Amino acid sequence: MLKVIGKNELGKLLEKLNDKFRIIAPVIRQYGKKERVEYHQVEDFDEIFLDRQPDTPPKKFFLPQNERLGEEKSGEQVFETGDRKTLIFGVRSCDLKAIDILKPVFLDNDFTDTYFEKRLENTVMFGLGCSKRQENCFCDSLGIDPLDAENIPVYMYDDGERLWFDVRAGELEEFFADLPDGNSEELERLKKDWQSGFEDTKIGIEVPIPFPELVAFNAPFWKEVAANCLGCGVCTYYCPTCFCFGFFWEKREEEIDKWRTWDSCMFPLFTKHGSGHNPRETQDQRTRQRIMHKFSYHPHNFEGVPACSACGRCISQCPVNIDLRVILKTAEKHLKDEEGVKSGG
Ligand code: SF4
Ligand code: SF4
Repeated sequence: MLKVIGKNELGKLLEKLNDKFRIIAPVIRQYGKKERVEYHQVEDFDEIFLDRQPDTPPKKFFLPQNERLGEEKSGEQVFETGDRKTLIFGVRSCDLKAIDILKPVFLDNDFTDTYFEKRLENTVMFGLGCSKRQENCFCDSLGIDPLDAENIPVYMYDDGERLWFDVRAGELEEFFADLPDGNSEELERLKKDWQSGFEDTKIGIEVPIPFPELVAFNAPFWKEVAANCLGCGVCTYYCPTCFCFGFFWEKREEEIDKWRTWDSCMFPLFTKHGSGHNPRETQDQRTRQRIMHKFSYHPHNFEGVPACSACGRCISQCPVNIDLRVILKTAEKHLKDEEGVKSGG
């Protein structure tokens, strides 16, 4: 079912959906002089802002930054999970892919993370195609389609004036039934135009995935690419696919609460042992871990899929302009040179 409405009519559609779902969508928030686009729960639908990629991904609605897991009292543990139906509106292909990347880690590994599982079950996402490349993204270099995604109930397109809805889930059709039909040929023409914009700006990263582990680990370029790194962890906090976390326990009178919070492999204390030994003492070792995890260890463990959806946020948000695309291009060159040496080329 293909439907199309003027953007000024979106509120009416969301009013209907709001009866069934709490609606999360990108909105602008002001922090001092800084304006940011972030996902928040919305009641005033005029606030929704779809004109560029949000600065933060929707990851926190599946893995909150700080999460109280329950309470330990007399050895008893109480685990809480959310059960409210949620609709996340306007999720771009990179962020949809990022949730897919997290799924096998939290669902199909040796144990299932019930918190992640419950939130996933209780959430539907409406995708949103990108009509132009965002500031630093390179999704198409990693085989992600900026104009489509699999297994999404509704995928949307914004042509500036109108919103198109490709409704793929039968159970949601009732919300769209009385909207005007879209012309599929017209949409295909629009998509072709947008697609050609991506072709014209393609970065063409051809790094082997997974990175050959030992060659990449022992490569000399890590010091060079990490020379300015501050170890602030911003790249990992903004990343839709980074999922490291730590636990802590907080005593409240007779009760002890158990918490989980995001952590980062870029922090100097992340791997420090109780003995005082730190196996990753330097920032270049930590940078190597972040990149190797994404492009070597994760794809080795999960069917060749890198733990990166090429959203470009680590590039946009890094305070010292460390650019993942430059790191990948450097790795690409090094790994090709090594391959050439091995084959006598
Ligand atoms: S955001 Fe930049 S400076 Fe901060 S840890 Fe990441 S790469 Fe280093
Ligand atoms: S590593 Fe950077 S480009 Fe890749 S998903 Fe994370 S933030 Fe986005």
